Amino acid sequence: MTTTIVNQRGGTCADCDTYVPARAGTCTKAPGGWTVHCADHGPKPGATAAGPGRQRSTEDQEQEPAQIRYTGTPAQVTALVEALKTAPHIKVRQVSQQYERREEPGSVSVHVRAEVDPRLLAVIEREEAER
Ligand SMILES: [Zn+2]
Repeated sequence: MTTTIVNQRGGTCADCDTYVPARAGTCTKAPGGWTVHCADHGPKPGATAAGPGRQRSTEDQEQEPAQIRYTGTPAQVTALVEALKTAPHIKVRQVSQQYERREEPGSVSVHVRAEVDPRLLAVIEREEAER
């Protein structure tokens, strides 16, 4: 198993010998110590399948889903999740199980990951910019 973190100190990329300033690249734990990689060569810490280091825009189909938490009675939470699933321009990607809330007996929480249609996001961002 390898450990990859953000490069804390300056160093030279193991692949291309480019000097990498602190926090600009990544560090991978190797048997002899830490190996520094520039932004083009190392694995990215916390990278997702959506594409490491890529600029995200509202046109990007692989947007990071938004996270929603619903809290209420089990029936309320189920109804809210179902409403979100049928909402226009929103794609529900993942629904967690219902977690019982110890501090509020009878109440549960559910986490939902959902994507908003990029075209709708673009419209909203344009309106926000005009404000
Ligand atoms: Zn490099």
